[in-house]
Amino acid sequence: MSAEEVRATLEALRATDLPVHGGRTLAYVYDSGLADADALGLEALAMFAGANGLDPTAFPSLLRMENDLVASAGRLLDAPEGFVGSATSGGTESILLAVLAAREGAPHVASPSMVLPTSAHAAFLKAAKYLGVRPVLVDVDPTTLRADPAATAAAIDESTILVVASAPSYAHGVVDPVAELAALAAERGVRCHVDACIGGWVLPHLGHPAPWTFAVEGVTSISVDLHKYAYTSKGVSLLLHRSAELRRGHLFASADWPGYTMLNATMQSTRSGGPLAAAWAVTRTIGEAGYVRLATEAREATVAIARGVAAVDGLDVLVEPDSTLLALVADETCDVFTIADEMLARGWFTQPQMAFRDVPPTLHLTLSAATAPSVPEFLQALVDATAAARAAGPVAVDPALAGFVAAIDPATLDEAGFAGLLSAAGLAGDDGSLSLPERMAPVNALLDACPPALREALLLGVLDRLSRPTPS
Ligand SMILES: *Cc1c(COP(=O)(O)O)cnc(C)c1O
Repeated sequence: MSAEEVRATLEALRATDLPVHGGRTLAYVYDSGLADADALGLEALAMFAGANGLDPTAFPSLLRMENDLVASAGRLLDAPEGFVGSATSGGTESILLAVLAAREGAPHVASPSMVLPTSAHAAFLKAAKYLGVRPVLVDVDPTTLRADPAATAAAIDESTILVVASAPSYAHGVVDPVAELAALAAERGVRCHVDACIGGWVLPHLGHPAPWTFAVEGVTSISVDLHKYAYTSKGVSLLLHRSAELRRGHLFASADWPGYTMLNATMQSTRSGGPLAAAWAVTRTIGEAGYVRLATEAREATVAIARGVAAVDGLDVLVEPDSTLLALVADETCDVFTIADEMLARGWFTQPQMAFRDVPPTLHLTLSAATAPSVPEFLQALVDATAAARAAGPVAVDPALAGFVAAIDPATLDEAGFAGLLSAAGLAGDDGSLSLPERMAPVNALLDACPPALREALLLGVLDRLSRPTPS
């Protein structure tokens, strides 16, 4: 391919994606709206793309930038003297490492477990699976949707190596009672991790609504993603520990092979310097005052949308937002899956969340600073989308199809069974491949009717179908 063809093809491929700029994609992406900061970040990304964080003595620039970022985060999160931190590839890796460090720090516990609210990010369940730590899930308070300290206390036992809190939770946007949870953990000599992946670069810039940082005595580690509200390129999160001793368990060395001594602070070994340098550049150029302004704009947009939603017939906020995330809930006249489709048709991406225990399906919104100027436009779209969803009525699942799906045993769903389901659901293309419809509401409603284990099995089937070599 000529360079021109490559460029044109990349542009054409990108046109199939959700936009990452413009403030109309309300999940997955974070847009500061600051073109100069973005450009500087991309310059740094390119400048250090080939540098390798594998060996800090070979690329001391990367170590320096990492330590600068950790220092900035420490100031933001009230880290005490002696704290340490590492840059990872994202929130999931930070969480995996926090769980690993906790497990390695408790070698006397033969069969370790961690206590977490049901609202904790699924990355903890991934950590549980990868690291062999049993998750003990505690229901959140049904009204506030925050972790329940009394129930958490009851769930901690001899096998507990970690108590988890969120600041805030991704799904509902509320901050857990960290002070109470951390105190409970400390009393039992157990670690407490605060997942501030999404709130860690916002809440401190708004003034703390409740103590949840290292200012809380029992908090032993905190994760904060720079590729979220630090508005930098994907691929950087930070994991901070209160002391070097607490971090020890996620460091890795192997001298027992014929090559270089492998010495890693994180799961990656070869690690591009690009995202780290971009984060360094973007955080330096936006600066403290800049982040205060961006956080305030995102928060004001969140509050304005929450207020606006109260006036939309058929729609409400699930719970008052503590940060810059919202979960919207529909009444019996309509459904959030149809509203999401209607919003997409109007150029807005909102993220459907399935029903979970007592919480009905919701629409998730992550508000970026770049959305702030278009709040009135967003609310008008929401009014129109909800009116259209009410006119259509709640999406119905075909009872025959629902029966077909309900009869599937997730443990034994095989290729043939999955192929049968795709054609029964009208999702099979001519060649039997997966073919997603433009309107996702019927598919989402069907998935919503499935218990989590079945939904996981079905979506793994989808992922498997999607991840196949491009046919020649
Ligand atoms: C985004 C997020 C994560 C996971 O982060 P990734 O960067 O997607 O791996 C974990 N916890 C919370 C609260 C998050 O918002």
